[in-house]
Amino acid sequence: METAVRNDVAQVWKDCLMVIRENVTEQSFKTWFEPIIPYKLINKRLIIQVPSQFFYEWLENNYVKILRKALDYAIGKDGQLEYTIIIDSGGQKAQQARQKPGAAPEEARNIPRNPFEIKVSKEVIFDSQLNKNYRFENFVEGSCNRLARAASVAVAQKPSVTAFNPLMIYGEVGLGKTHLVQAIGNYIEGQNGNNKLVLYVSSEKFTSQFINAIRDNSLQDFMNFYMMVDVLIIDDIQFLAGKEKTQETFFHIFNHLHQSGKQIVMTSDRPPRELSGMEDRLLSRFKWGLTTDIQTPDLETRMAIVQNKLATEKAEMDMEVVEYLANCVDSNVRELEGVVNSLIVDSALLQRKIDIELAKYRIKSLVEESQKAISIDKIIDVVTAHFNIKVSDIKGKTRLREVVLPRQIAMYLTKEFTELSLKTIGYHFGGRDHSTVIHAIQTINDLQNQDRELLLHIKDIKEKLKK
Ligand code: ADP
Ligand code: MG
Repeated sequence: METAVRNDVAQVWKDCLMVIRENVTEQSFKTWFEPIIPYKLINKRLIIQVPSQFFYEWLENNYVKILRKALDYAIGKDGQLEYTIIIDSGGQKAQQARQKPGAAPEEARNIPRNPFEIKVSKEVIFDSQLNKNYRFENFVEGSCNRLARAASVAVAQKPSVTAFNPLMIYGEVGLGKTHLVQAIGNYIEGQNGNNKLVLYVSSEKFTSQFINAIRDNSLQDFMNFYMMVDVLIIDDIQFLAGKEKTQETFFHIFNHLHQSGKQIVMTSDRPPRELSGMEDRLLSRFKWGLTTDIQTPDLETRMAIVQNKLATEKAEMDMEVVEYLANCVDSNVRELEGVVNSLIVDSALLQRKIDIELAKYRIKSLVEESQKAISIDKIIDVVTAHFNIKVSDIKGKTRLREVVLPRQIAMYLTKEFTELSLKTIGYHFGGRDHSTVIHAIQTINDLQNQDRELLLHIKDIKEKLKK
């Protein structure tokens, strides 16, 4: 075994596992060795992939002797072990970490504590989660977004050097916040010779990663991961409102990054002062940098956005049509783009030019669509899915808080969106009395004024209902 040239990494790792299995408990084997992926075998250097820094540290602190034994058996006394770490930048496993070669064997032998002289490179490639289509070049400038755009360009050109740190951009939905902050990331990534780590994350994802980290006991990993980036772009931070623990963690990451001269970029759907449910110490940090808004674009900007969209899609329409569309859809760029997209599809399908008739027809059907009655069944479906509860529960007798509140919200929304009488609404919710429905509506009305989180839930549900 000692001298054989082994170049089959899978086989070598299998041999290692055989030795390991004999020396550790079943549980430890499952937890610490099954997740390891044999990565490469270069001469007598075995490179294994581990899921995190923490994982590697744990192996090193607890299983170094056994690993040595396994290597002796599978490769020989001069076998070396190296680790590479997979960085999971949320959801998908990112490509792969690069690793630095471990120390020479001579050296390794001289160090008693650790037979491998393990070196783990901090140098990792991870997915920045950026959408490459969001660039400054295709972001139309108008008076509605001039300052936000200028600040973004400045930050992109000199991250963490400008006074705009953090940069906070706020504004209503569909006005280009995400586009703009992603453009910052893409610009920085696209610069040659720059090895800044850029990371884009929605606050929703940040929160769920945080929750998972707590569940999996890997909070330190989570923090390390975020503290490693050079440019952190965090979208829709209003979502952190009311989430105390997540905010606290974000606060630490924020401070660490800021103190180490890293750039932070944030967006929100409302100005910081309206972010109730956000800790003051966090809000006051935002003031260190620049806070600026994006407003609804004026007619000319909307027309330019339509033209810009047409150019990217290599489609055409007369100026008259462009103006018509920009007039009809005036408050949300996303919707405006949606209309242009549907028209492009229509015109391809019907093999006709996008003219004013086609545009009128499309707008008319969109308006009808949005006015289409929302049914009680749909409300119940959306609400139960939103809160992850069962339809049978919402209609049933349970008084559990997790069900009562969604039930009340569903009744409240049924009243708002349908013409149904209180009695009928009660009937659909498990034969409840009309006074129960009145009580539900009042409760939600009252709560909405005090409870920001509830308000966000309702806002969210309404958006889902309109889809
Ligand atoms: P927000 O994050 O503010 O809700 P988005 O950035 O998602 O909005 O923008 C919605 C859509 O509108 C995106 O497809 C984006 O590319 C487009 N958009 C918004 N503003 C502009 C603009 N000024 N120029 C070009 N496209 C824009
Ligand atoms: Mg957005």
